[in-house]
Amino acid sequence: MIEVKEPKKEIPVIGTLKAMFIVFKHLFQKPITTQYPEQKRIIEDRFKFRIFLSLDDCVGCTLCEQVCPNKSIAMTSLNRANPRNKRKIYPDVNFGTCTICRNCEEICPTDAIYLTHVFETSRTRNSFTYTPEELSLPEDEVIK
Ligand code: SF4
Ligand code: SF4
Repeated sequence: MIEVKEPKKEIPVIGTLKAMFIVFKHLFQKPITTQYPEQKRIIEDRFKFRIFLSLDDCVGCTLCEQVCPNKSIAMTSLNRANPRNKRKIYPDVNFGTCTICRNCEEICPTDAIYLTHVFETSRTRNSFTYTPEELSLPEDEVIK
């Protein structure tokens, strides 16, 4: 029977020492946890968006609902005086599934739906869905 000798494995000394050094270094570093909302980190504009809706400009064409890839938009009945919106339907938006692809903004024929650099849209009691009226309000006036 032939004896097969396994080749000797080299011990990765430099890699091991580097890893130990990184772990050791972190022992003396302060944690980077931010005490939000008291402390706020700088977040670039390109990472924060909220959708707004101009109720007077929405004609209820449903294009935004059709183009949304995640079904985050649903048309909702809203009884308000607007001669341009004869079907009295407006979009609501579920921010829990919206990926900020901007398709709705691009396709809207009247620029009624648009994204702004507002953020901090967290909610405690209600769902992630903003009604058409809530979409038309400044964020600090939305009851959460
Ligand atoms: S927001 Fe724009 S695309 Fe959506 S229903 Fe209203 S007019 Fe049509
Ligand atoms: S930004 Fe994209 S994912 Fe979000 S509601 Fe508009 S179409 Fe849907």
